[in-house]
Amino acid sequence: MSSDAEEGAPSDDRRRYEFLKVLDELDEFEGSGTQLVTIYIPEDKQVSDVVAHVTQEHSEASNIKSKQTRTNVQDALTSIKDRLRYYDTFPPDNGMVIFSGAVDSGGGQTEMVTRVLESPPDPVQSFRYHCDSNFLTGPLEDMMADKGLFGLIVLDRREANVGWLKGKRVEPVKSASSLVPGKQRKGGQSAQRFARLRLEAIDNFYQEVAEMANDLFVPKRHELDGILVGGPSPTKDEFLDGDYLHHELQDKVLGKFDVAYTDESGLSDLVDAGQEVLADQEVVKDKRQMEEFFENLNTGGEATYGFEQTRRNLVMGSVDRLLLSEDLHHDVVVYECPNDHEEYEVVERRHATPEHTCSECREEAEPEEREDVVDHLMNIADQRGTETKFISTDFEKGEQLMDAFGGIAGILRYSTGV
Ligand SMILES: [Zn+2]
Repeated sequence: MSSDAEEGAPSDDRRRYEFLKVLDELDEFEGSGTQLVTIYIPEDKQVSDVVAHVTQEHSEASNIKSKQTRTNVQDALTSIKDRLRYYDTFPPDNGMVIFSGAVDSGGGQTEMVTRVLESPPDPVQSFRYHCDSNFLTGPLEDMMADKGLFGLIVLDRREANVGWLKGKRVEPVKSASSLVPGKQRKGGQSAQRFARLRLEAIDNFYQEVAEMANDLFVPKRHELDGILVGGPSPTKDEFLDGDYLHHELQDKVLGKFDVAYTDESGLSDLVDAGQEVLADQEVVKDKRQMEEFFENLNTGGEATYGFEQTRRNLVMGSVDRLLLSEDLHHDVVVYECPNDHEEYEVVERRHATPEHTCSECREEAEPEEREDVVDHLMNIADQRGTETKFISTDFEKGEQLMDAFGGIAGILRYSTGV
């Protein structure tokens, strides 16, 4: 099986990872009072409006009784205003989210933290100002949980709607209605002629619906995770069996479902009806990667795992796909001993840097550098043209990647014996 070359996918994956990392960090923070500010800004909100809002909040904060909380909130708002200076009229595509506040840093100390997340995977829907003892990360986390792009088609003989399912969001795009006559013929028409005209009209309508779907889905066919078709019987069956859809789309049909309505609400009904198929689909791609990995591991040796081995293969340029567990929240520490031996140790994020003895000369090695292990590996991967895939732990082999292989593995272009 070859890797499906999805243009733009690696950078999307990488952005996704970076978002999740920031969110994970933000979730840990707590303010001693109601002093952590979160602002969700949609892409069509003028930055000057946001600045005005923040200024207003700043002056209202002067009413806060606790001096410490008051100072902290005002500091956070000032920091946000400073950040907003970097933007022109509007925020970047899909909007942005700003987090700022004084967080507990242990021992009664606080530390000012400000994070900006630009262009989330889905558009920020509405402006939100939130001040609490925690940052408001939920809406962004929901977005990050949204994986997958599916095409939706609902039709009966009278109307049809096509649209997208993006993550958990249904997006109606186009609709059509037919001129198919009812079953009752008018007086004077021959029954045979009436039946023929009716079939012709149905055929024309199916073609029209297929064209609508093709226009929308064919350009996205490589990103598309599947298509669901809904409607009453036998319409949806006739439509699918008649091969009206573009053949590449036909192959992507995951299932057909009984849906009573074929207006826009029918698209949501279709998603409800297809829940089980969709849930399976989310991990199907990850599953395929892991199956290929295990197959290679068991047969030809075109597989690598663990930090050291995978890193060596990456540097050699022999890794086709780097597989990283979504649960990999670790840093790598680079040590150097007095004899210039370089060694690595993977440690949990936010844990202290351990001491390290050189395995070659048994001398004490000094930590030279500590960075996110995912960043470390992905940087090498990017330089070598290796694709990175993040694998969820929502299935057995995905769990194994984390538990048995330290969350790091690779499918090789060729066996290297490393
Ligand atoms: Zn050494």
